[in-house]
Amino acid sequence: MKKPNKLDALVAESHRNRDKRELGYREKSLKMYPWVCGRCSREFTRENVHELTVHHRDHNHDNNPADGSNWELLCLYCHDNEHSRLLDAEYTQGSSDNDKSNSQATHKPFGALESLLKNKK
Ligand SMILES: [Zn+2]
Ligand SMILES: [Zn+2]
Repeated sequence: MKKPNKLDALVAESHRNRDKRELGYREKSLKMYPWVCGRCSREFTRENVHELTVHHRDHNHDNNPADGSNWELLCLYCHDNEHSRLLDAEYTQGSSDNDKSNSQATHKPFGALESLLKNKK
């Protein structure tokens, strides 16, 4: 028998708050911005919007200004690119739908890369 641990409860509570906060900014940014990847311009619909992720321009997840100036909508691939040097696991929201994500994993990865390079100024 384990007594309820105060620290465990605190950690659980802070996780709950974080989940709530992440849900909040994801919803807000999806309302604020068109469902288009900011890098490869891939467009999203209700069916695949779970593959569109919210990136924090300054990489600070706690910086969520109401005007959305720190958010950028990126598809999973471009978000991955964006973080490839930073090992940041921020973009895991919405990944519970594994079947769909797997089928999308073969979706022209180089097409995305091409437009990424083209968009570089
Ligand atoms: Zn993209
Ligand atoms: Zn990001």
